[in-house]
Amino acid sequence: MIQLVRGFRDILPGEAMVWQQVEQAARDRFECFGFSEIRTPVIEQTALFKRSIGEDTDIVEKEMYTFPGSKDTLLTLRPEATASVVRAYIQHKLYAADPVRKLYSIGPMFRRERPQKGRYRQFSQINAEVFGIESPYMDAQLIYMLTRFLDALDVPGLRVHLNSLGCPECRNGYRDALRAVFSGKTDRLCSDCVRRIDRNPLRLLDCKVPGCREVAADAPSMADFLCADCDAHFKTVTAGLDAMGVAYERDPRLVRGLDYYTRTTFEIQTDALGAQSAVAGGGRYDGLVEQLGGPSVPAVGFAIGMDRLVELVMAAQPVLLRPPAVFFAAMGAEAWKRAFQWAGELSDQGIRVEIDFSERSLKALMRRADRLGAQFVLIVGERELEEKTVSLRHMATKAQTAVPVDNLVAVVKEKIWESGV
Ligand code: AMP
Repeated sequence: MIQLVRGFRDILPGEAMVWQQVEQAARDRFECFGFSEIRTPVIEQTALFKRSIGEDTDIVEKEMYTFPGSKDTLLTLRPEATASVVRAYIQHKLYAADPVRKLYSIGPMFRRERPQKGRYRQFSQINAEVFGIESPYMDAQLIYMLTRFLDALDVPGLRVHLNSLGCPECRNGYRDALRAVFSGKTDRLCSDCVRRIDRNPLRLLDCKVPGCREVAADAPSMADFLCADCDAHFKTVTAGLDAMGVAYERDPRLVRGLDYYTRTTFEIQTDALGAQSAVAGGGRYDGLVEQLGGPSVPAVGFAIGMDRLVELVMAAQPVLLRPPAVFFAAMGAEAWKRAFQWAGELSDQGIRVEIDFSERSLKALMRRADRLGAQFVLIVGERELEEKTVSLRHMATKAQTAVPVDNLVAVVKEKIWESGV
């Protein structure tokens, strides 16, 4: 038998229903804050990700699914969404009438990471991106929107980690300080980190190798290097969160795995998923639109990892498939034909139906209806059709009603409505 590719997963029906609930909750919440949906393709030119995520990141160095396109171009399955949304914002001049745009998207991402629990090679994200607003209140509002969305899903034990990475100017001083610390400790660092000291020392703070983590623990904090403007920006973000009652922890080592972040960065973390603690992450990326060839427009956004979030939601609540409202226990060719028609008509009224077309005894059919959790069973046999009344059984109370076949759809609909299903 041909099996699933390692690192990829099937979302089976019970879980898929939770995915739908989470997606709908995100759409409802984000649309309240003025976001509209954007859908971009899963394939982009490789150069887009190299220029945005950064050449020295794990994603670009090791994890992209890249293959030749036409002529000399290389194509990549998107490893994240922000770069594509920025490309679309620029390409379609979404800034022309008003640079302020609030966009969200939902879809799969691809990274060739080492597969393990909570870490897949195809995973889905819900992304939100805001263009054209420099105010720190926007950062705070975005974090508020994200935490309220998560609260509504009743996932316990989530924490907001918050940091500022400053702007390119003040970050330069911080980079120098990191280089000074790390270059004396190369014997304790992994080969990636040694290689990155000169070009991109911030990446060391994000390395998961234990030796590197120990060295990073003694590194200086970006908070001590923020310029006056970045410091003021960060203070307003925290004041905004305080005003809205959003709890957060300051985390001076939170740099995130992508190079484009400036100023505010944040992550939602949990202890419930083992090694993969990040459920969502984001931050400001004020330079990216211009860097990718657009106008100078500030931006801020986040990405929620759907696979991890759904796992948390499912751990907190049992997953129940929606049962049929009406199960047809139809016996014999004539009964199947009539039940088939009634089922179609009831479904047109928005009622969930199920028919069993197999040749089974009434007892076996009732057992199956019970197993599916059907609210009502319509018993349709030859005798019932001759007598022009079928029996409607309410499974919870076992009460049985005779329903005239001529008026079946209206009566069944009424009964369902009465029982509050
Ligand atoms: P990032 O784009 O790396 O900032 O990731 C944003 C979120 O996507 C993370 O917080 C995770 O929840 C999720 N995520 C990232 N990589 C993976 C992966 N390989 N498998 C599952 N979820 C992931």
